[in-house]
Amino acid sequence: MCGIVGYVGNKQAYPILIKGLQRLEYRGYDSAGIAILNGVLNVYKRKGKVSELESFVKSKDVDGRIGIAHTRWATHGEPTDENAHPHSSQSKDLSIIHNGIIENYDVLRNELINRGYEFHSDTDTEVLIYLIEDIKKNEKVDLGEAIRIALNQVVGAYAIVVISKDEPDRLIAAKKGSPLVIGIGDDDFYIASDATPIVEYTKNVVYLDDEEVAYIQKGEKLKIKTIKNKDKTPYVTKLEMNLSQLEKGGFEHFMLKEIYEQPRSIRDSLRGRLNADKGIVSLGGIIDYEQKMVNANRIIIIACGTSWHAGLVGEYLFEDLARTPVEVEYASEFRYRNPVIYEDDIVIAISQSGETADTLAAIELAKSKGATIIGICNVVGSSIARATDAGSYTHAGPEIGVASTKAFTAQVTILCLMALRIAQLKGTLSKSRFRQILYELESIPEKVEKTLQVSKKVIEISEQYQNVRNFLYLGRGYNFPVALEGALKLKEISYIHAEGYPAAEMKHGPIALIDEEMPVVFIAPNRGIYEKVISNIQEVKARKGKVIAIVTEGDESVRKLADHVIEIPETEELLVPLLATIPLQKLSYHIAVMRGCNVDQPRNLAKSVTVE
Ligand code: GLU
Repeated sequence: MCGIVGYVGNKQAYPILIKGLQRLEYRGYDSAGIAILNGVLNVYKRKGKVSELESFVKSKDVDGRIGIAHTRWATHGEPTDENAHPHSSQSKDLSIIHNGIIENYDVLRNELINRGYEFHSDTDTEVLIYLIEDIKKNEKVDLGEAIRIALNQVVGAYAIVVISKDEPDRLIAAKKGSPLVIGIGDDDFYIASDATPIVEYTKNVVYLDDEEVAYIQKGEKLKIKTIKNKDKTPYVTKLEMNLSQLEKGGFEHFMLKEIYEQPRSIRDSLRGRLNADKGIVSLGGIIDYEQKMVNANRIIIIACGTSWHAGLVGEYLFEDLARTPVEVEYASEFRYRNPVIYEDDIVIAISQSGETADTLAAIELAKSKGATIIGICNVVGSSIARATDAGSYTHAGPEIGVASTKAFTAQVTILCLMALRIAQLKGTLSKSRFRQILYELESIPEKVEKTLQVSKKVIEISEQYQNVRNFLYLGRGYNFPVALEGALKLKEISYIHAEGYPAAEMKHGPIALIDEEMPVVFIAPNRGIYEKVISNIQEVKARKGKVIAIVTEGDESVRKLADHVIEIPETEELLVPLLATIPLQKLSYHIAVMRGCNVDQPRNLAKSVTVE
């Protein structure tokens, strides 16, 4: 939540900052703002998207070679011009951009009000810049030191960059809980919430750690200190992403591009980790922890949102293949409900961004109880990737559409590999069955490609149902999480109310909703408890509901009952989620486009949820 960008160097700052904000807009788009220094510190901010800021500054002075910029996902205070970042200090000499929440802002604010300060916004952020200026003045210290002292008084999460009118070549950045990357150019520095605004200028980056303050001075080496005043040596890593991954590549929306990238993202997630001919599954990142996973009495999977749905598929996979009991927990519940955690527990944390605040906090809790933490993240070098004992990256590439698509299927792919590897070590599968699954998994990218060809059918269905108010998604076994994910996708981007349920649970409540208006999406491949699902379809038809069924190619039984069928290729039951999810992603996409919704940036949402 919130994207922050900073630049100091010899180039014009404005184009770099604006482009950076566009890249980070997936993180929030309630307002956008910019501060550029060129003798005077010009601050421009506007409610709404980055494009509105751009129009607003058209006739303004944006000249300068140092600046900061922000795109907001509001936590404290409505999305207004006043609450937009950057926030300036009382004297207007300092400006700050912030991602996170200052939890003790109220106490700090009251103290500052008592000392005569007057606030102009409702944000927690404004408090911090006033506090910094107050310390700078009263303790007679320089800006960097004032920030360091101030951060010792702050409870909560922050990634900040501060610019000062008196320091034309220097930015100060710091982080705790929210991400921050510093790109090191030849004679300039780039700062951002993730590496996407940086990659086209430099591949050398430093990921700041929690409670570190970076002193970024043009023409000098990057200096880092902890907020407790300990010097740190910056650790430079090389970025592997490239620019073309961050562009739409001819697609109308990032979400559609990412849906179509799934054959590749699954293939990339399997690459080097699976060899069916040789009967090998190997995940380099967890090798040292495999034995612990084999010996574990249980696995706890923690995640939020779409990753939580992937976790549910993971539960079915680990129990089915490796016979290890699994619990799947919402990270936000887990961390606050005093859960029982044993030292031999394996906790698998799943997060696309690797920055999800609730998941990070749940990891810390599990760690403090001695559990082993395995991560499944998409963003290399992210906070979760660094907080875990071991893990495997999903090689989905940058996901920019706010509604997750390719990250989900990549997560399921990794969970599948992990469960297979542990099953192999535990000997819970016969050799021939193991091989059979490996071959089938190897063929999945090709089958996903085939599944992507269902567009015409999906568009027809979308046309027919684009104006309904409710949708129900039903599936059983491995397809129950798929139903949940299908419903979430529709809610997120089309704003149609949708619920996912285990198909058999329908009769315990949701069946009351069914009438001739109600579309019910069944995930009904010819695997698992197929006959039972057919009975559930009959129950919906008996109440005049409209049935949209995802079926296996050539299926006849469901076709007779359903109003619409979408075919997916035949596969193993445990791999159906990787295929059945695809038409549901497309259904939500087309409905949202037909309803005129902003698919890549749905209202109220942001991609990387770095606040609790
Ligand atoms: N708390 C700050 C605000 O509301 C930043 C929000 C965020 O990073 O999500 O403006």
